[in-house]
Amino acid sequence: MPATSTSQGQAAELRERALRVMPGGVTAGGRFNPVLGRPYYFDHGNGARLWDVDGNEYLDYSSSNGASMLGHNHPRIAQAVRRGLAKGTMCTQETRSHVELCERLCELIPSAEKVRLSNTGTEATMAALRIARAATGRDRVLKFDGHFHGMHDYVLFNCHTPPERAGDPEIPPYPDSAGIPSGQGDLLVNIPFNDPAALTSALDRHGDELACVILEPISYNLGCVPADRDFLALLREETAKRGIVLIFDEVLSGFRMGLGGAQEHLGVEPDLSTWAKALGAGWPIAAVTGSGEVMDVLGPVGGVVVSGTYTGQLCSVMAAIEALDIMSEPGFYDRLNSIADGLYRGLESLMADSGVTGRVQGIGARFGLYFGVTEPVRNYEEATAFDAEVNNRFLRGCVEHGLHFHDFGTKFAPMHYGTTSAHTDDDVDLTLERLADVFAALGAAA
Ligand code: PLP
Repeated sequence: MPATSTSQGQAAELRERALRVMPGGVTAGGRFNPVLGRPYYFDHGNGARLWDVDGNEYLDYSSSNGASMLGHNHPRIAQAVRRGLAKGTMCTQETRSHVELCERLCELIPSAEKVRLSNTGTEATMAALRIARAATGRDRVLKFDGHFHGMHDYVLFNCHTPPERAGDPEIPPYPDSAGIPSGQGDLLVNIPFNDPAALTSALDRHGDELACVILEPISYNLGCVPADRDFLALLREETAKRGIVLIFDEVLSGFRMGLGGAQEHLGVEPDLSTWAKALGAGWPIAAVTGSGEVMDVLGPVGGVVVSGTYTGQLCSVMAAIEALDIMSEPGFYDRLNSIADGLYRGLESLMADSGVTGRVQGIGARFGLYFGVTEPVRNYEEATAFDAEVNNRFLRGCVEHGLHFHDFGTKFAPMHYGTTSAHTDDDVDLTLERLADVFAALGAAA
């Protein structure tokens, strides 16, 4: 049954209690849902579905911001974690499983010769930048407008550039959080994505100071915006020529459309890559991978410190190995990609039939919806042209029809959504049936 109850019952009671003990009533800021005016309070998840504390059922198109790509409560992941528990709660030891996981990553990822684990995508990108700085002896980092690389001070900039500045060839640093040291932004160079002229000119001006270029090779944080192949080839060539470390942040794109991530999909190998989310199938684990030469700046070989009490926690390592086993099964990606494509084509038909202007951009199991936009979206500036009001009405309609499309709100660009390997053709049909009502209402209001 579609969900209808959003503001009464147990959720309301939890909200009241949460507000007393948590800033804004949430344990993580991104869980506040602007459409609801509060976070969801979920009770449990199974497969492609979530149930909230008031018993409402939702088909899930958030999938834990992309972490639960195998769906919720996957029996083989649960079993793997139990194997980890049975070995004792060890979290500062190397084991056979750690070696196995890193071997597997080196086999599957085109550019991976060595691996260092961490717990979250944020930690992984922080480590990658430190490695790049040590490897080059330079400090500055080039990033792209609208690309998100985690919560640390190094790069928490320009995910919300004021749209009127988004077309500048070099965009000033706009911190995405209060509390970031003044001066931190001076270590960044921020330019539009997929803009060869802006890239060449930034490299000409700052190339000698740059430790690295970091990017989402497919920027799902802009909905779904892949690097143009020519642009990526230019980036690879220029960074290699200038001794700048090229970092692909594959925290979201990793394993999303194939085992080798966006680098395999787009056919370009970076020097370093970061992985998280789908790798752990809901368990906290992340990795930095790269060429042996660059990675060997890490201790105990080199002088770069990247370590931690919970790094490579055994249950998460076991979950990741099992996730790789599941994703390596013949036909896994054919099915994942075909279910996702079925949803994208269905969404396009609904837009056309209801007279709602918009674009669906999806690669593998993740996608963005750009209401009000007709031309391909290739960067942040173009993403900001989306119609936020229609987007919000769409999200509200989804809440009312038992579809979970989480959105952080307060953004100039749309959010990313996704399918999982637990979604079936029937789930997609049911989703499109429910969305037909949502789009009909959007079309009628246009
Ligand atoms: N990099 C990218 C591309 C991401 O999408 C995210 C999270 O959404 C991160 C890094 C940070 O990962 P985490 O939330 O695990 O710290």
